Amino acid sequence: MNRLESGALYVVATPIGHLSDITLRALEVLKSVDCIAAEDTRHTKKLLSFHGLSNSLLAFHEHNETRVAAALLDRCEAGGSVALVSDAGTPLVSDPGQNVIEKAHERGVRVIPIPGCCAALAALSVAGLPVERFVFEGFLPARPARRKKRLQSLSEETRVMIFYEAVHRMPQFLDELIASLGGYRLACVARELTKQFETITRLPLVELKAYFGLHPDQLRGEFVVLVEGLKSSLEKEVAVVSSDVVLRCLLGEMSPSKAAAMAAKITGEKKNKLYAKAIQMQSSS
Ligand code: SAM
Repeated sequence: MNRLESGALYVVATPIGHLSDITLRALEVLKSVDCIAAEDTRHTKKLLSFHGLSNSLLAFHEHNETRVAAALLDRCEAGGSVALVSDAGTPLVSDPGQNVIEKAHERGVRVIPIPGCCAALAALSVAGLPVERFVFEGFLPARPARRKKRLQSLSEETRVMIFYEAVHRMPQFLDELIASLGGYRLACVARELTKQFETITRLPLVELKAYFGLHPDQLRGEFVVLVEGLKSSLEKEVAVVSSDVVLRCLLGEMSPSKAAAMAAKITGEKKNKLYAKAIQMQSSS
C-alpha cells in the first residue's frame, strides 16, 4: 500500500460479523494511523487483536461526537492521521460520524474512504429483489405514530426499500409493514449475515409473518429487512383482485366480520373496506 496521507481522516469499514471480512487496505490503515476513533474501543480491540494488530484507540460515539470530533480534526490539521471506525460495517451508515465528516470538509481536512462491509448491501446482494434502484431507509423512528407516518409515506415507493430493525421489534415491524404496504409484497429478511446462524428468508410479507410465528427461534440476532417497491398500476390491480379472492375464500368458511378481519391481516387492506365488500359479496351470491 502507498504510505498514509498525513493530515487525513480515514473512514474505515469493518466486518459485520465474520472478522475476516475486512480489506487488506483497511488493516494497513488501522495499523499505521496515529489513532483510531472507535464507537466501542473494546470491540475494535478484539478486531485488531484477531488480525495481530494494536494501535491507540479513542472512544467516539453519539454522546461525545461533537467534542471528540474537534479534537480529531485538530490532530489531522497538525499533520496526524486518524481512522474512524464503528462497531460494524461502514461508519455513518446508521452509525455515528456525520458531524466529524461535515466539520472535516468545512475545515479542509482530507477525508479518505476505505470501503468494505455494509449490512444493507450484503443483504441486497442476496435478496433476489430488483437491485437496479433501491432506497435505504435504515431504522424507522421509535415512536409508533412516527413509524406509521414514515411507512405510509413509502406506500407508493417503487424502489426496493432496505430497513434495519432491532430484534425485539421484528414481529411488530412485520405487522406494520403489512398494514402500510400490503401483505402481498415480496420481502426478504437477511438475518445474522456472515455469522454462524446466517439465514436468508424470502417470502411475501404475510408469509414471512407466519414463518416467524412458526419459527420463533429465528427471531434472534441482527436483521436487515428488504421489501419490494410498488409495482405498476396493472400489478396493483392484480393485488386488489387478489384481496377479493382472499375474501371470497374466507367467506365460504366464516362470518363476514371474521373474514374481513382475517383478509385485512393477510392483504394489509382496511378492515372496514373489506367488511363492506364482504357484505356486498354475500348479498350478491
Ligand atoms: N454501519 C452498519 C452497516 O454498515 O451496515 C450498520 C450499523 S447499525 C447500528 C446495526 C444494524 O445493522 C443492525 O441492527 C442490523 O439491522 C444491521 N446489521 C448489522 N450487522 C448485521 C448482520 N451481520 N446481519 C444482519 N443485519 C446486520
